[in-house]
Amino acid sequence: MNHKQQTSKEDIPEALRDIPTTPTSSSLNPKLVILGLSGLAIIILGSLGIMRLMSSPSETNTVSVEPTPSPSPTPETVENILGHLPYEEADPNQLKSITNDGRIKLREKAADSFLKMQRDARESGIILNPISGFRTVEQQEYLFFEIKRQRNQDTRKRAEVSAPPNYSEHHTGYAVDIGDGQVPATNLSENFEQTPAFRWLENNAAKYSFELSFPRNNPQGISYEPWHWRYVGDGESLKTFYEAQQLQNNASSEDNLVN
Ligand SMILES: [Zn+2]
Repeated sequence: MNHKQQTSKEDIPEALRDIPTTPTSSSLNPKLVILGLSGLAIIILGSLGIMRLMSSPSETNTVSVEPTPSPSPTPETVENILGHLPYEEADPNQLKSITNDGRIKLREKAADSFLKMQRDARESGIILNPISGFRTVEQQEYLFFEIKRQRNQDTRKRAEVSAPPNYSEHHTGYAVDIGDGQVPATNLSENFEQTPAFRWLENNAAKYSFELSFPRNNPQGISYEPWHWRYVGDGESLKTFYEAQQLQNNASSEDNLVN
């Protein structure tokens, strides 16, 4: 029986055997399929990686090159005329005279500080002569338009040396034009910077909270005025000058971005 069973297989013609002895594709299939699939997976994953590597730089490029939609800059339009900023007229009740005749006035704190500065300068032999302090809008109107007419000046040229009404620091009661009492010929002239008074102011004015409003190449584009000083010794005066200037600087930097 055993022998027969063992041999019986051989007796059956090969073609008719139900259990195939020769290896066919189907018997190796699972292994091949796994190998094939894993190979394919490696290829797919690999190519995905390559694609990713290839695509990622372009993605970052796209991000950096494309203009990011930023919020449109708030148009802080600052009212200014030919570089001059608008200033409110000081309350006449807050003004104090800095001359014996009462002709030239400043806001009280500025006046006190100026008088102290003047006294201290005199001790060093320097005579600080106030030429102009607080001005009303009406007075500035005359200074700007009437003098412009008398001098036959072009508006832009006039604005380089004088502020239009409503745009003068002198309206605030914090600004003062100073001359050298010993060299009056240099009054309101660039030559004032050659005087001992100017040199003294350069070295000492900050101690009394005075600063030059329009130094050379000032951002407002106003002519150099070595004689024109402003008081910035309290919150109110600081706010008056620096808030306006800050707004102007912001606005002009936005202009630069647009241009
Ligand atoms: Zn002035």
